Amino acid sequence: MTEKILVIGEVRDGELRNVSFEAIAAAKKMNDQAEIVGAVLGAGELEKEAQAMIQYGADRVTALKNDALKLYTADAFSQVLLKLIEKESPAGIVMGHTAAGKDLTPKIASKLETGLISDVTDIEVDGEKTIFIRPIYSGKAFEKKLITDGITFITIRPNNIPVLERDESRTGEVIHEDVEVNDLRTVIKDVIRKASEGVDLSEASVIVSGGRGVKSADGFKPLYELAEVLGGAVGASRGACDADYCDYSLQIGQTGKVVTPDLYIAVGISGAIQHLAGMSNSKVIVAINKDPEANIFNVADYGIVGDLFEIIPMLTEEIRKIKG
Ligand code: FAD
Repeated sequence: MTEKILVIGEVRDGELRNVSFEAIAAAKKMNDQAEIVGAVLGAGELEKEAQAMIQYGADRVTALKNDALKLYTADAFSQVLLKLIEKESPAGIVMGHTAAGKDLTPKIASKLETGLISDVTDIEVDGEKTIFIRPIYSGKAFEKKLITDGITFITIRPNNIPVLERDESRTGEVIHEDVEVNDLRTVIKDVIRKASEGVDLSEASVIVSGGRGVKSADGFKPLYELAEVLGGAVGASRGACDADYCDYSLQIGQTGKVVTPDLYIAVGISGAIQHLAGMSNSKVIVAINKDPEANIFNVADYGIVGDLFEIIPMLTEEIRKIKG
């Protein structure tokens, strides 16, 4: 019988998050012969989200609908998913290592009495063995994990496993199910978002991040302009958040968000170990700092020593010119 791998999709604002497509690619890496079964949960139609999963490589998708699934709660989502897992008996389960993924997957794993490998950044296949790689000690080292028994249950860090190419002609079965949700202890009525509109920090491929060197909330404006021309998001050090230059939802680091964009531009950030914990695995790091001894240059691929208030507008201008 063909092995099944269940991919739990995450819908936000009527769209599937990109990490859900990365999760499909991860499932294919785990076993390219497996049947990839997608799951999407919500209160609305879900057909568009289910079709998107199929176009990115899922073979079949179950869309689970109930008013209680409109906004995420571990209570409602775990109930519904546990029933689906019981029905499908998948050999593997994959979800994004997002706020919801971090909250939901340990609850499901404990109910299933199985292990969970969280925050996977890469998957290697060595003959019969599938090896999962994840950072430890705040990104200073990586460990390799192997599952020898039971369900292979993993969460993947956004922006690390490339999505498969979208094939709009791909077809697959979509099953719409009205599901029951009982005895809820938690009901979320509304979510008020603090972060500004625009590119989501945890999925952004470019991040322009400001530190205490930016000196004020106004000082962040040129960083927003640079982020806009690059199609990226703005982040910050805790120093900048503590100084009230920006909201804590932008904080990157050990006690903030962990990001792995293609390009991370650290502006007026000294490079404290707690900041590096959230960004040192970025693919290319550019540091702009007036202190040539700043620790951030030790992790940077490119360094610019100088005053950020001169450099950022020049960079923005040049990139605008290149982009026409
Ligand atoms: P600073 O260290 O003050 O650095 C400012 C930099 O700006 C300096 O290098 C300076 O040379 C440069 N600069 C100044 N003016 C200019 C200019 N005009 N042009 C160019 N460069 C200029 N920090 C985090 O970021 N994220 C976390 O999640 C986090 N978690 C923490 C958890 C704990 C338990 C603790 C104890 C600390 C944590 N911190 C965290 C705080 C961390 O230790 C540092 O204090 C913080 O990262 C410093 O922020 P910063 O680099 O912006 O400020």
